[in-house]
Amino acid sequence: MAVILPAPAKPLVVREVAILSNPRKLLLEQCKTLRELRQIHGHLIKSGLLFHLPFLAENLLESSALLLPNNLAYALKVFDQIPAPRTQAYNILIRAFILHHAPENALLLFDRMITSSIPPDKFTFSCALKACSRLKSLAHGREIHSLILRSGFGFEDFVINSLIHMYATCGEVGTARALFDGMPVKGVVTWNAMFAGYFKAGDWTDVVSLFREMLDSSAEFDQVTLISVLTACGRLGELNLGEWIYHYIEENGLKGNLNLVTCLVDMYAKCGQIDKAHNLFDEMPFKDVVAWSAMISGYTQLNQCKEALELFHRMQIANVDPNEVTMVSVLSACAVLGALETGQWVHSYIRRKRMQLTVNLGTALMDFYAKCGCIENSVEVFEKMPVKNSWSWTVLIKGLASNGCGREALKFFSAMQEANEQPSDVTFVCVLSACSHAGLINEGQLFFDSMTQEYGIQPRIEHYGCMVDILGRSGLLEEAYDLIRRMPIEPNAVIWRTLLSSCKIHKNVEFAEESLKQLVKLDPGHSGDYILLSSIYASVGRWEDAVIVRNQMKEKGIKKTPGCSLIEMDGMIHEFFAEESAHPLSKEIYEKIEEMVSKIKLAGYVPNLAEARLDAEEDEKEVSVSHHSEKLAIAFGLIKSQPGSVIRVSKNLRVCTDCHLATKLISKVYQRDIVVRDRNRFHHFRDGDCSCNDYW
Ligand code: ZN
Ligand code: ZN
Repeated sequence: MAVILPAPAKPLVVREVAILSNPRKLLLEQCKTLRELRQIHGHLIKSGLLFHLPFLAENLLESSALLLPNNLAYALKVFDQIPAPRTQAYNILIRAFILHHAPENALLLFDRMITSSIPPDKFTFSCALKACSRLKSLAHGREIHSLILRSGFGFEDFVINSLIHMYATCGEVGTARALFDGMPVKGVVTWNAMFAGYFKAGDWTDVVSLFREMLDSSAEFDQVTLISVLTACGRLGELNLGEWIYHYIEENGLKGNLNLVTCLVDMYAKCGQIDKAHNLFDEMPFKDVVAWSAMISGYTQLNQCKEALELFHRMQIANVDPNEVTMVSVLSACAVLGALETGQWVHSYIRRKRMQLTVNLGTALMDFYAKCGCIENSVEVFEKMPVKNSWSWTVLIKGLASNGCGREALKFFSAMQEANEQPSDVTFVCVLSACSHAGLINEGQLFFDSMTQEYGIQPRIEHYGCMVDILGRSGLLEEAYDLIRRMPIEPNAVIWRTLLSSCKIHKNVEFAEESLKQLVKLDPGHSGDYILLSSIYASVGRWEDAVIVRNQMKEKGIKKTPGCSLIEMDGMIHEFFAEESAHPLSKEIYEKIEEMVSKIKLAGYVPNLAEARLDAEEDEKEVSVSHHSEKLAIAFGLIKSQPGSVIRVSKNLRVCTDCHLATKLISKVYQRDIVVRDRNRFHHFRDGDCSCNDYW
């Protein structure tokens, strides 16, 4: 080799010989630090080797760009010193840009390569297509596709796989499929590229049918394939195929693959087979956050929220850090249960770890606070969210409306319109319910009209339900009834139940009887409707009719849904049913109730005998109004919580008239804020008043 070597310094003698005999080995394996690399780089420049032996320069580039961490800047310097970089040099740097999350630079370099007439090879094309996928740049991807065809690489499997991946990622799943179908022989990588495309597009049905095609053609699949297919099975509830894969995994000894087992757990949980999911989960020797999240969200989706939170506590004990998916599931379980403490722990965790309040996480947090009756916290979270979408605004408006802040809700609706955020049909349900809570009849009508005229949203049954509520609530029962008769959709049970509730407030027997007549046809087993009509009779002194309605209900074998109230204390959920004594503290609780009743009697409480008498069932022991589940829960709250703290109870049924009055007085006598969430809304009791203004 006609290279004149200058006289080197002592330690480099060894290296010099080594560099020339096997430069790749020396540079790639022995340079562990940037310092060593610089030393050799300097020597190669001094000796002139770098400019005469392009492969040396490429090896140096590969070391600095790909093997040593964080030396991309240095690599760029090396690249600039190469007089005429070859394809290999470009490939190294393009790959490095992708690894360093700079796909736009990868494409810039690719363009420079083309304009400098350096011929790309299959690796260049594959990397450039990967950059397009990352940037979701379909236009650029198409350009590269035509270059590929012109340079004769259109038949390389390796390149076609990258094309399939690029088209699928950029949303052109059809084009990806056409390329896929055009390949005479498909390896597992090709199949997986197609699976990944359907997966990214959320085309779960196509994932499953592609897998069936794969089985029919006896193509080999691997674990990557199975992960896509199991996910799809979970989304579609395809239990049969999921079970088939389960047996395949078991028979082929793949149960050691934790990713696969986690997907199985997720599949079973999403298909509602929570016990099977739990068994697999328990067998896992090591459970990562994905496995825990799959299990927790499985319980949340089945509305088994207590189990979800128990599992979350186990996860905390196991010292596994939750991720965003875990926290969204946990927050939605907390929202259902009214578990404020656990949800607050999640919020403080987010702050402690300085996690980003993404739209999903922030909106889940807002929804949780609103459903626990802490509407100020919900608004605060909303204001701190860096990015909001239409759903975040809707959750905010909904929370304000159900917490009795109708006017606030409407203010935020105007702000939403000013922010150019498109309201959805659900947003309008929330806006109308805000009008109803605030007693704004005219505004409600205007919003109802503008929904169709300005936003082109056709009213659904929920929107009519809100209008019936707005009219009925303000005493316009005739108008409400008229609207039900005129609406173009067949009224459902909810609509008539709304009218029935309005009749209770305005003590209107005529429309109440008509509502129950309709309700018996539409939803005959609903005990609450009979109880409402019977208490309307009682409220106007028609005792006999009240008893007749109750008896009709009994004759038809309709059972009252047992009232159940939940209260959270020190992270534990306590459940109370009317008249029960299963709680370990039940002696103290019943003593506390006696004390409560005698104290509020001094403040003017008269037990509502109408409800008590109607509830008396001759064949059972007399159900006393003072032992309704929310009174038990409130008594427990008074015993166990700090003086002055807020007592929060959530109940499965409507609060009865007696409990509502009693709770108002308890809030005054004991100087406690009490928040009761019943089936429909929040009651914030403070100093003898309730936020619902006695309309619920
Ligand atoms: Zn009650
Ligand atoms: Zn109330």
